[in-house]
Amino acid sequence: MRTLAVVVAHPDDEAYGLAGTVALHADDPGFRFVLVHATDGEGGDIRPGFPATRETLGAVRRAEDEAAWRAVGRPPDRHVWLGYPDGGVADVPREELVEAVWAVLGPEQPDVVFTFGPDGVFGHPDHIAIGAATDLAFARGRSTGGPAFRRLLHGAVPESVLTRWNEQRAALGLFTWDPTRVFHMRGVPDEQIGVVVDCRPVAHRIVAGLREHRSQHHVMSDDPDDVARWQRVVSREWHVVAWPAPESGTPPLADVFEGLD
Ligand SMILES: [Zn+2]
Repeated sequence: MRTLAVVVAHPDDEAYGLAGTVALHADDPGFRFVLVHATDGEGGDIRPGFPATRETLGAVRRAEDEAAWRAVGRPPDRHVWLGYPDGGVADVPREELVEAVWAVLGPEQPDVVFTFGPDGVFGHPDHIAIGAATDLAFARGRSTGGPAFRRLLHGAVPESVLTRWNEQRAALGLFTWDPTRVFHMRGVPDEQIGVVVDCRPVAHRIVAGLREHRSQHHVMSDDPDDVARWQRVVSREWHVVAWPAPESGTPPLADVFEGLD
């Protein structure tokens, strides 16, 4: 068995950046996929005209996330909703958050753990907080000395890709990402990227999942009906290897489990 544990803040956080990795392992009988969401996403935007209210959005987004994984074709083997308030994860005492993550990761003993790095990809305080807590839970797993907790990954966008996307967006007259602002995408230096997954063979499955996040279409894509463009955007997934520290000069891995056997 090879277990991947994914710990994120909101439903749809894992839709970009991780669904391709899961889809590529969908038919691997030894693959176990554990997914943890810190919140139900009840504080998110509601697409204009979408039949949800502030009161129902959390339940709607949980259902959307579950439908998304069915559409990807590989639902989680275990899906835990921690139920913290959307927008309030950073206010949860850090030790409590670490305990909540550890309550899942400790018994699961994952080989690879995926979460947010200190940039939160979008600078979102919920992302940064759940990432920091997951890093600490991973460190606890390392300290127990067992065979698990072999690799810690932080989802990331290479700076060169962000620059290219911004150039394309500017040419289309769309807003561009400003990495100095909260809720805007930021990149990491390209040389920090330790895993590059070619998701082109499963891009249609990733997009099928993205499309299930129906209440969020307006914030997930400029044109949710432009499937071809969506497939290009999801054609790669990038991760920083936060542990173990990569040796300088080594080429990026092509899969989150590469080299662990
Ligand atoms: Zn999020």
